[in-house]
Amino acid sequence: MPTTTRAAVTRSKGVVEIEDIRIEDPQPDEVLVRIESSGICRTDLEIIDRTVDLPLPIVAGHEGAGIVEAVGADVTTVTVGDTVALGIASCGTCPRCRSGHPTYCDNHVPMNFTGLRPDGSTGLRDADNRPIHAHFMRQSAWAGYALAHSSNTVKITQDVDHAVLGPFGCGISTGAGAVWDTLGIEPGTSVAVFGLGAVGQAAVMAAKVAGATTIIAVGNRRPKLDLARELGATHTISQADGNVEDLIRDITGAGVQYSVEAAGKPRVMTTAVDVLAETGHAAITGVAPGQTFPVDAWKMIRGRTVHGTTLGDTPPAVLLPRLVELFHQGRFPVDRLLTHYRLEDIKQAIEDVEDGSTVKAVLHP
Ligand SMILES: [Zn+2]
Ligand SMILES: [Zn+2]
Repeated sequence: MPTTTRAAVTRSKGVVEIEDIRIEDPQPDEVLVRIESSGICRTDLEIIDRTVDLPLPIVAGHEGAGIVEAVGADVTTVTVGDTVALGIASCGTCPRCRSGHPTYCDNHVPMNFTGLRPDGSTGLRDADNRPIHAHFMRQSAWAGYALAHSSNTVKITQDVDHAVLGPFGCGISTGAGAVWDTLGIEPGTSVAVFGLGAVGQAAVMAAKVAGATTIIAVGNRRPKLDLARELGATHTISQADGNVEDLIRDITGAGVQYSVEAAGKPRVMTTAVDVLAETGHAAITGVAPGQTFPVDAWKMIRGRTVHGTTLGDTPPAVLLPRLVELFHQGRFPVDRLLTHYRLEDIKQAIEDVEDGSTVKAVLHP
């Protein structure tokens, strides 16, 4: 029996409207999840503004969490009634998946990024029974229900407020995974974090958990700098304070051992490399396709490394429970980043994300 629900549908550039939709029953490798929380992430907005060119009409949303309502015949990892958070999907059989790096799955695009299942079908219909593109990151979680995949549905066992769980799956994972897994930041080290949205604030929290002793948050809005300070930054720098590289060298002497670029801006990526000490490591965490940034080749000769990372290079089944446990213990206060909205108020939520007045908007169907 198809499930009837409401979803935020984009039918033309820049427009998102709440509609009644129908979701078909899960296929053998799928999980039907009743969505309780769903974050708004930059990539969702790039679908709406057509920077990311997925076919229309489409339901976006890729930071979903909720309760399992039904499972396909082949799903063994979750069962009806489980609380789950949704991450990125992967094939499980390519060399990247088999070597423990499913965020770099060879089938990343067909699994996550076409608006259809890999077989070309869609499980969503509008009120007139016309197909709607979905399955974005195998969720399309801006809806009352989502068809997730066995590979991206992670059981959460901790007794935590479900309202916070959605954003764990992308933005929070990206910032934390970049610090712990991509960079492997050790206790007693120095790190600079550029950009203080959800990814950057998660990187600050993760650096504190990892034991970094100099954590420099760089941004351009005072409230976000103040928040970073409360979450673990030992120093904050506003871009209005002067030359960021000089200011970081005033604090660290030789430069930082690690940097995380979470602003998504090529010129900031260059700065994230320039502020490194020799043998330092920079991680770049997100950018729209087709952009480049200059790097001083001599600085690279001096032992520096630039890492790109997708979702922190950690399997969701490993990272999501780790993050939720730290939240449960009060050591990763993700709730401090969140502003909550009803799904019906998505236009207001998007406005608040775009003007920077909220760090992470979370929708509740
Ligand atoms: Zn794969
Ligand atoms: Zn995202």
